[in-house]
Amino acid sequence: MAIDFKNLATLVLKDVVDSGLAEKFRPKLADLERGLKRLSDDKILLPEDVQGKKGKTLLIAVRKAVELAQKTAGGSLTVDSLFGMQTLSWLEFGTRCLGRALKEWENDPVYRQENSIPSNVKFGKLEIRYFIEKLPLVQTSDPRKLLEQAWQSWMDVCGLTATETDDFDRCNVVITTQQIDGISNILADAHIGPPERVRLQLRFDQDEVFDEFRFEATACHEIGHLLGLGHSTQPGNLMNSSLGQLKKPGPEDAMLAAQEWGARPTPAEILPTPVVPRVVR
Ligand SMILES: [Zn+2]
Repeated sequence: MAIDFKNLATLVLKDVVDSGLAEKFRPKLADLERGLKRLSDDKILLPEDVQGKKGKTLLIAVRKAVELAQKTAGGSLTVDSLFGMQTLSWLEFGTRCLGRALKEWENDPVYRQENSIPSNVKFGKLEIRYFIEKLPLVQTSDPRKLLEQAWQSWMDVCGLTATETDDFDRCNVVITTQQIDGISNILADAHIGPPERVRLQLRFDQDEVFDEFRFEATACHEIGHLLGLGHSTQPGNLMNSSLGQLKKPGPEDAMLAAQEWGARPTPAEILPTPVVPRVVR
């Protein structure tokens, strides 16, 4: 059942007013409505959280969702459960990813056909070969190196092998830069993998200004999607839909990647040397 956002927004606005928040920090009703919708799109506020509830109980459910959103902001918001202007504008403009969660390569026959990988091109079971079409500019840094580091961060926590290829016909991931939605909001997006026999795409938004951290963290998050991970609503994960303070997979991200791609192989050199019993005559 659909959520009645207008009713919720009215309730939340009353809560904000009752909390004594100064008028200049109070959001407008229409903005609140949009913000609540966004919480719902991000699956932070679920229909079952609010269904059949009203008055105070309903408000508590919404406050809980707002608190969760504030926690996933990775320290950039005060966690106070209050849906004020700051939280709202973070939701609106917080640098985030709208992962193309739809497996469009599965459902769109044209995309599938154009991007299916010829059967004579072989991949290892846990192998990704990525082709770089275009990368955005990154202030004071080489985006290619940062991208390599982002792949490495995943290879450190699961059985994945990822290498760059300059042969488009032999890749299963294409990395490019295109106009997505102008500055802010969406930084990048990616298909949800794993790739199987269809080439997947990761694209950065060409209108963004990337510094080193922002680029590496975004790349690493999007790679998570390519590997098959969706968004996490638990705070403190790289796979939160908003950019937090992580630029590498957190423990939950790592666990999910290992479920999909196996555990990271133990390098032979760190295996203990077998003890050969010395024969004493
Ligand atoms: Zn994402």
